[in-house]
Amino acid sequence: MKFKSDITIIGAGVVGLAIAAQLAHRDRVVYVLEKNERFGQETSSRHSGVIHSGIYYPYDSLKAKLCVEGNHLLYELCRKHDIGYQKLGKLIVATSDEETGQLQELKAKGQRNGAEGLRMILRSELKKLEPNVEGVAALLSPSTGIIDSHALMEHFAARAKDSGAEIAHRKKVTGIEKVSDGYKVAVEENDKGKFSFTTRILINCAGLYCDKIAELAGIDIGGAGYRLHYCKGEYFTVGNGKNKLVKRLIYPVPLPKDAGLGVHITLDLEGRMRLGPSVEYVDSIDYSVDAWHKQAFYDAARKMLPFIEYEDLEPESAGVRPKLQGPGEDVRDFVIRDESDKGLPGLINLIGIESPGLTSSPAIARYVARLVENIFR
Ligand SMILES: Cc1cc2nc3c(=O)[nH]c(=O)nc-3n(C[C@H](O)[C@H](O)[C@H](O)COP(=O)(O)OP(=O)(O)OC[C@H]3O[C@@H](n4cnc5c(N)ncnc54)[C@H](O)[C@@H]3O)c2cc1C
Repeated sequence: MKFKSDITIIGAGVVGLAIAAQLAHRDRVVYVLEKNERFGQETSSRHSGVIHSGIYYPYDSLKAKLCVEGNHLLYELCRKHDIGYQKLGKLIVATSDEETGQLQELKAKGQRNGAEGLRMILRSELKKLEPNVEGVAALLSPSTGIIDSHALMEHFAARAKDSGAEIAHRKKVTGIEKVSDGYKVAVEENDKGKFSFTTRILINCAGLYCDKIAELAGIDIGGAGYRLHYCKGEYFTVGNGKNKLVKRLIYPVPLPKDAGLGVHITLDLEGRMRLGPSVEYVDSIDYSVDAWHKQAFYDAARKMLPFIEYEDLEPESAGVRPKLQGPGEDVRDFVIRDESDKGLPGLINLIGIESPGLTSSPAIARYVARLVENIFR
């Protein structure tokens, strides 16, 4: 590594890598610093792997706009670069008349956001599409799909490196100091000690630690509203061949406020079926799955998916969402901004990149690239 870079990205999750792929250029020194042994070991490999269509998010929010744009960009990338995906479609299923009313509202919200092809279907069509799913009506989202997120990250990493970026693993950022021509970044290498270098632009994509990085740069994260709340989501696998009984992603009507999308069925590219993720605010990051939660998963799924038996469920994995909103609070948008107005020009913070962060990743990269070009200009 040289001791001066043009752009430094902290964090090699899907978002940091997408940004690196977008910004890497032979005439620029671009670094990605990652504290783990490999890229994508945290939230970017602990999710549902769904390419969302943009239904749920407030109109005109970054979440809505970047999700809809990211949905298109991801399918394009997958087709062009042979990244595994399936445009399975998704059904949000109402199990009562009251929920059918909520689905109508959701459809209007999604259409306003630009989610493609949303259509209400009645029980008779639901039964034709998914004979094993129980409900009185459903909202069909044909542009929802699943993606091999590891292959996506490999693609972004390869593109970044091909254009000259360096992705440095086992490099933990431990200090940030504003200097005249950018930022002095202190880095700890696992067994090799410490070093520092300067960068003109610093992009914080540190996922679950992005608030700590913002704090290292001198931001009052309480005052700025950047303090993260960790929100754990557990998954249970559904075994005993039950994965053959649905063809699409099956979701319940979402819970009020930001209590999550509700325990739903996701399928992966190998056809494995999972239930989850649950929603549990926690104080620390921990990826264990509590086997005692099996009954709650079973109860949540049973009404809509009567073919699931208690014995089919096994604890699988968990992820932690970096949420800006606490329990019961209104949903907050992604924060993606150059911090010039805090006296920190050239520091770009990405805070609260929870779902739909995977879907939005290529669109977030374009958005950040525009901020960077403005700074260089
Ligand atoms: C349960 C769950 C389900 C989800 N499902 C979906 C879904 O179906 N579809 C969807 O679109 N989105 C989904 N998401 C959201 C999506 O997974 C995230 O938005 C996305 O992975 C965030 O990527 P990231 O690169 O911002 O963060 P991360 O993947 O967390 O990457 C951040 C990186 O920064 C590194 N880092 C942190 N601190 C430092 C430091 N000091 N120095 C160096 N490196 C550092 C970390 O090691 C890490 O590798 C889900 C999330 C969860 C938790």
